[in-house]
Amino acid sequence: MSEQNKGTVKASEINPKFKYEIKKMPGGEKLMQCFQCGTCTSDCPVAKFSSTYRPRQIIRMAQLGLEERVLSSQTLWLCASCFTCTDRCPQDVEVASVIRVLKNLAVKKGYVPQVFKEQGASIIETGYAYRIPELRIKRREGLGLPPLPKGNPESIRKALAETGFLKLVEEKAK
Ligand code: SF4
Ligand code: SF4
Repeated sequence: MSEQNKGTVKASEINPKFKYEIKKMPGGEKLMQCFQCGTCTSDCPVAKFSSTYRPRQIIRMAQLGLEERVLSSQTLWLCASCFTCTDRCPQDVEVASVIRVLKNLAVKKGYVPQVFKEQGASIIETGYAYRIPELRIKRREGLGLPPLPKGNPESIRKALAETGFLKLVEEKAK
């Protein structure tokens, strides 16, 4: 049984308004058109290598209003945003976009995997998504490779402040 599918569903878990919240977001409009055929899961390259990641289940949980369960699910973050599911869905559900909407809602509730928090902090501080290890920089020098271009965290901070992302990250970090 997958992480998303564990346990019985209690009526108290269901937020009947959740689907409307998703449907009003760009990309979430066709959520209720899903008839659970499973094509998205069978064609998803991540699902092929994961015993827990099932886009069909994510869509179903969203339809049913299992808000906390779906937003707190770590598997949500395994989506690689390749859009294969969106291309293949016979019901024109924008599966990848629904998952993006869910990730955005998850962030607002503070459900962000540590690895992404660290990535966000690194982008804000250095302009790079990953801190380049000193050892790698030295190896480049040893191989006579040119230095890596400097990141521009100031302009990134400015852009992130404009979008409200910076405030969100700083609030969550407190
Ligand atoms: S492919 Fe479309 S209709 Fe089929 S389960 Fe996935 S989202 Fe639902
Ligand atoms: S966008 Fe996400 S859910 Fe859809 S096929 Fe790609 S990895 Fe799977």
